[in-house]
This record gives sequence, structure tokens and C-alpha cells, in this order.
Amino acid sequence: MAIRLPLVVANWKLNGDSQLLTEMVNNIQQLDADNVEAVLCPPFVYLNEDTQDVKKGAQTIAIQDSGAFTGEISGRMLRDVGCQYVIVGHSERRSLFNETNEIVAKKVLSTLAAGLIPIICIGETDEQRENGETTAVITEQVKAVLDVLPNYSDSIVFAYEPVWAIGTGKTATGDQAEEIHAMIRKTLAGYSQELADLTRILYGGSVKAENSEELFSKENIDGGLIGGASLDVEAFRNICKNAV
Ligand code: PGA
Repeated sequence: MAIRLPLVVANWKLNGDSQLLTEMVNNIQQLDADNVEAVLCPPFVYLNEDTQDVKKGAQTIAIQDSGAFTGEISGRMLRDVGCQYVIVGHSERRSLFNETNEIVAKKVLSTLAAGLIPIICIGETDEQRENGETTAVITEQVKAVLDVLPNYSDSIVFAYEPVWAIGTGKTATGDQAEEIHAMIRKTLAGYSQELADLTRILYGGSVKAENSEELFSKENIDGGLIGGASLDVEAFRNICKNAV
């Protein structure tokens, strides 16, 4: 059985400032780095700041590497400022910025081409869950990416985030989440058993210090993608500790 190092990712969205970044870095610096990996994803403008040993990620990436694409940031630039991860296909990007499965797949390729690790977000809406489409929607989102991967040895991460749980205070129960995570891992195994064994699958959606322990205790939940609670230094540190 492969060992997957737990990963906890802070998705600040359009929040935070350099002062919060400094406080966060100072507070999670002493985490047990051998047993949990913490990554901060503040808005682009803060990615150039020195976060010492704490890893950094971006919240999105351009498909293109360079050129006349006003406002875009490429993987090469992210790597240049010390990023190691990129969140790709977050549900807010999919719904508010029209990112389709096809665009998400292209962004995953741009991320890998720059030597960065994509954190690929997938998840069903409330309506899709009500209609019994959860498995079909998630499988399609996962396959859209895996079908274009040139090989399965690159490091990738999935984040299962039921859209109805993001920022709503409603979390999937540990068992509900585990069922979907196991299904995602099975889909990965259809491509490569090694990929299934090594790929970390995070849970996201109203994760708090209080519910993180139960979620992280599940066999197929390898950490979390944290929104609101990642803006609170104490809460985020406790969530990271619960992932150890
Ligand atoms: P939330 O956001 O923790 O505030 O629900 C999670 C996310 O959108 O990644």
C-alpha cells in the first residue's frame, strides 16, 4: 500500500493580505512537516513574498505560456516566484469564469508542463446530487483530465468539493465523502494502479477544525482544500494538525 503524505491547502480566494500571509507563515512554520504538507494559495500578488519553508500555490493558471493575453499569469511565472502547486478548475472558476472540462484539462497540461502540481477540483452541484447524477458528473470531470495526460507518472492531486458544501456551512459527512473518494480512486485505477495508489484526493467544502478530524480519518481522504477556515490562523493550523 502506497503512503500518501497528507496535504492541506489554503484557498484564500479573493481574500487576505500580506500581513495575514506573514502571520500564517509564522504559525504553520513549526508544523510536523514529515507528516503533513501545508500549502498556501493567496491571491497572485502575494505569491512573490517569502514564505520561508511553507509551500505556495496559485489559484488558477493561464493555458498559454506567454504572449498577448492581458491579465493572465503563466505556469513559468508561477514557478519563477517559487510556486509548487496550482488549483485548477475550482467550482467558482467553472461557474463564474466559464471553465469547462476541456479548459480545465488544458490548464492541467499547462501546470504540468511548467513542472507544477495541479490540484484538480471536481464536484457535483446540489441539483445534480438530487437528480442522482453525482457519479456520472464526477467521473466525467476526472476522465476529462486523465484522458489527456501524456503519462501517469506526473504528480497530480484531486480535490473533491461538492458544490453544495462550498462556503455554505454544509459539509458532506465523513461517510458521504469517503464513498465518493473511493469511487474516484477506482476510476484512477482504471488508468493505472500506481496512479490510484499515489494520487492524493482531498476533500473540500466547509471544512473546519471541528469536522476535519472525522473527514481525515477516512481511508481515501488524504487531506483538505480549505476556504473560509484558511483565513483564520488558529483554525488552519488545527486543521493541518488533524491531518497528521
Ligand atoms: P470553504 O471553501 O471551505 O469556504 O467551503 C472551500 C473551497 O472553495 O475550496
